[in-house]
Amino acid sequence: MKKKVIIIGAGLSGVYLSYLLQERYEVTILEARERTGGRIFSYGSHDLGPSWIWSHQKNILKLLSELKLELFSQYTKGYALYDAQPKVQTFHPQPSAPSARVKGSLSMLIEKLQEKLSQTKIILSQEVLSVRQNAEGVTVTTATEIYEADYAIVTLPPRLCATLEYEPQLPLALKEKMLQTQTWMGNSMKCVIEFESAFWRERGLSGFMFSNQGPIAEMHDACSEDKAALFGFVHSNASMQTFQEDVKAQLMRVFGIKKEAILEIYFVDWRREKFTSSDQDAKPLSAHPSYGIDTSSYEGRVFFSSTEFSYQEGGYLEGAVMNAQKIAASFHSSQ
Ligand SMILES: Cc1cc2nc3c(=O)[nH]c(=O)nc-3n(C[C@H](O)[C@H](O)[C@H](O)COP(=O)(O)OP(=O)(O)OC[C@H]3O[C@@H](n4cnc5c(N)ncnc54)[C@H](O)[C@@H]3O)c2cc1C
Repeated sequence: MKKKVIIIGAGLSGVYLSYLLQERYEVTILEARERTGGRIFSYGSHDLGPSWIWSHQKNILKLLSELKLELFSQYTKGYALYDAQPKVQTFHPQPSAPSARVKGSLSMLIEKLQEKLSQTKIILSQEVLSVRQNAEGVTVTTATEIYEADYAIVTLPPRLCATLEYEPQLPLALKEKMLQTQTWMGNSMKCVIEFESAFWRERGLSGFMFSNQGPIAEMHDACSEDKAALFGFVHSNASMQTFQEDVKAQLMRVFGIKKEAILEIYFVDWRREKFTSSDQDAKPLSAHPSYGIDTSSYEGRVFFSSTEFSYQEGGYLEGAVMNAQKIAASFHSSQ
């Protein structure tokens, strides 16, 4: 009989781990939200979570290719804009590492993985509260259910991992380390603005803009096959009450367009997503944190694996994939 594994969280880490383990284990995923994907979240073809994959990220690239997902290059042709006082300036940005996007949207990655999970049970709206382990197995508790298994893998961002109740308790140093680890992009607000046409491309602009005026602080082209769009990271002190109007005013000022050219604005404030961010995550970061957490002081029947646990490419999709592969390899070698 197959041993049972409960995976807590159905973000990329949880869903991919299930894909790697399901042949040899009976896997159940418990997910707090009413949807899978975690930080991967798209509205139609608009990515409101991650968008980019870089060419050195071999593991996520291999996975995308295995799943027959197509990539296309981030559009960067043309001039960039600096939204400054008293007037908007045009400049040629320094070349940066080219990035690629997934055709359709990044949610296709989760969809395609899920299609392969014929042997996995995914239970949504199950916020896990506690994880208990003893010599016989693990017991995972949600508000309404108790689940038993041989092993559990917690795939939440470390700060959220630390808020679960454990028996035996987490070693103090490990809990401290989890609490100190910033959730990557947990402080971000991302919007996608849909237009009638990609007029900026016609004007020789790449869509890249940065601004000290706001509410959008940094913007990029986000066109898909069927939609003309830009995406923006929103400044941390933008007003939420007047957000839509302020974004429209900024775009009208920057591009000299009419309000009617803006069809729709989609927006996620990741700071307020309680299954991604904690209160400490709201603070702005000046650099990409150095990620990686050694959890060996606790492991027995309980393991941890989200992108922030990865020493390589932590924070990114690549980190989630690499850490999942590491945990899956340790499961396969120990059985
Ligand atoms: C706006 C934004 C832009 C980004 N841009 C990029 C990019 O361009 N490139 C890149 O590589 N990365 C980017 N990232 C980071 C990328 O999204 C993450 O690396 C990746 O999605 C992490 O996946 P994960 O499964 O490790 O964690 P998560 O996606 O956070 O998954 C954790 C899961 O656990 C669930 N959960 C939480 N609490 C509980 C609980 N108590 N019980 C049960 N389930 C629970 C959550 O709902 C979630 O589904 C971006 C992130 C954001 C938010």
